Amino acid sequence: MTVTGKKTQGSWVESANRAAIDFPIENLPYGAFRRRGSNESVRIGVAIGDHILDCARLAEIVGRDAVPSALVDGNLNGFMAMGPAARKAFRAKLTGWLAAGSPDAARLAPALVAQSEAEMQLPCTIGDYTDFYASIHHATAVGKLFRPDAPLLPNYKWVPIGYHGRGSSIGVSGQRVVRPVGQVKAATESSPPEFGPCRRLDIELEVGGFVAVGNALGSPIPMAQAEDHLFGVCILNDWSARDIQAWEYQPLGPFLAKNFASTISPWIVTKEALEPFRVPYERPATDPKTLPYITSTVNEQRGGINMVLEFYLQTAKMRASGQPPQLLSKSNLRYAYWTMAQILTHHASNGCNLQPGDLMGSGTMSGPQPSEAGSLLELTLGGKQPITLASGETRTFLEDGDAVTLKAFCASDNAVRIGLGECVGTIVAATQ
Ligand code: CA
Repeated sequence: MTVTGKKTQGSWVESANRAAIDFPIENLPYGAFRRRGSNESVRIGVAIGDHILDCARLAEIVGRDAVPSALVDGNLNGFMAMGPAARKAFRAKLTGWLAAGSPDAARLAPALVAQSEAEMQLPCTIGDYTDFYASIHHATAVGKLFRPDAPLLPNYKWVPIGYHGRGSSIGVSGQRVVRPVGQVKAATESSPPEFGPCRRLDIELEVGGFVAVGNALGSPIPMAQAEDHLFGVCILNDWSARDIQAWEYQPLGPFLAKNFASTISPWIVTKEALEPFRVPYERPATDPKTLPYITSTVNEQRGGINMVLEFYLQTAKMRASGQPPQLLSKSNLRYAYWTMAQILTHHASNGCNLQPGDLMGSGTMSGPQPSEAGSLLELTLGGKQPITLASGETRTFLEDGDAVTLKAFCASDNAVRIGLGECVGTIVAATQ
């Protein structure tokens, strides 16, 4: 299917009107930045075209009363906590200020910073990070590698599976990821485990959802209110050390195989920008119905998101010879077996208190086809089937110098295409 898409309503920021740009006026995602090489404090900005609208500078021009103070103060968590009404109201103002023909164009131009002059930071303080396992295709494909006779565990269709990850090791796109060192199973049953650099370093192609308004400890979030507690989404690469994971994961799940680094894209695309790309949440008729506490009509009608996800790899050799990153797989967030709303409601269902800025990963978002696999583990069938790259090199898992780029965008015939930008990370040699 060829997606043509609607034409943008247009902005006086000319670059925002280019075809297939990630940040047209219909997007307006939030991020944090400082001018490259400066010592200025971290600022909150809104991406528009290839520029950033600096919220602090904006407030100096339009007046402090017109911009939420949390945004002026560089505190995106504070803005997240204000909830959907404040977010929608400010989005309407932004759209007016930035629209083509706006009388504000000349006076607002000084509040723009070229993205090429900005160093992006983590968009907010991520107090807690939880990663889920919402692609049934990923769960089945990985399960097959470990349990050919029973790939999908019996709880999968009932309970959103997740684990608590680590917030402190989350970095923003551009992160240099040091190859982890860890304990792995010995080659023979009679030998002790080995301790050394990971040999099966992998990526996981995911989407991260940010919590907007939190909930008090002991007060679950009903499904009917789940969407109001979601702020927006980013791209997430949940780097994974498969050899360490295979040895340590039973009985308590992932630990050091995952918490050495996770990389996110710098821009958080809000729920409002994603509205045109919502799709029904559907399960095969033969699958069990979800339990009532994670069921709602709204979720069934539009709980899913039609978002294309892409995984590119560029080796050091490719970079040196000017070869571009190579597309290795392409998937879609609409394959999620559990929606963000279900994940959020389930997470808080025991009374666990979510807080503004908490990050919830979708889990590796693989699709039903082998070309839609969201990890090298799946693409190479557990490392048994190497991928041959355009450079002539082969890969099963990542080598030092490899740069991974994840991209995501939403496109449909009835809406203006929007993108999430890029999530880039480069592997550097182990330090031990
Ligand atoms: Ca994951």
